[in-house]
Amino acid sequence: MDAADVRDDLVEVLFTESQIQGRLKELAAEIERDYEGKELLLVGVLRGAVWVMADLARQLTRHVEIDWMAVSSYGSGTKSSGVVRILKDLDTDISGRHVLVVDEIIDTGLTLSWLTSNLSSRNPASVEIATLLRKPEALTMPVEVKYVGWDIPNEFVVGYGLDYRERYRNLRDIGTLAPHVYS
Ligand code: IMP
Ligand code: MG
Repeated sequence: MDAADVRDDLVEVLFTESQIQGRLKELAAEIERDYEGKELLLVGVLRGAVWVMADLARQLTRHVEIDWMAVSSYGSGTKSSGVVRILKDLDTDISGRHVLVVDEIIDTGLTLSWLTSNLSSRNPASVEIATLLRKPEALTMPVEVKYVGWDIPNEFVVGYGLDYRERYRNLRDIGTLAPHVYS
């Protein structure tokens, strides 16, 4: 669905489908340059990163491998629970591998800072992060993000993998959720 289908639920559209694709293409070009001559494993964080992974990976003009992890961070609402737990681990042994974690949004940075230190303990050649969106609070966490699509204000956004209570993931665009939906 697109923004018109859920017009009343959104305050505004932040990024359209075509803006998202354009930005992912730029990130893909950076990634290709940085990992030239190196094998690359993309690790997606389920479930929200499915859409970014699918589109980012297809913008690459080189081979990559893809694996997935699932961690719990948020409960079902709009606030972080502060607890991180592995729900599904990698199928791949990452020792000696160049790993790029792909995610759709970094809010507090808690999830990814925990995840990257967990992955780093498995002796990979490198671990970096690519995220489509980043909120301001993440800048205060000791988590280095190599590739960022956009920095956004501290508002709750939905679409393109981002959910509110498991809805809106299949929205093609990214928009700010109207307060009346969650209050
Ligand atoms: P962090 O640990 O606070 O960085 O939380 C990251 C996770 O929280 C993301 O992977 C999302 O699942 C969720 N999240 C954070 N902000 C938003 C938002 O604005 N909309 C939807 N999900 C969000
Ligand atoms: Mg997520």
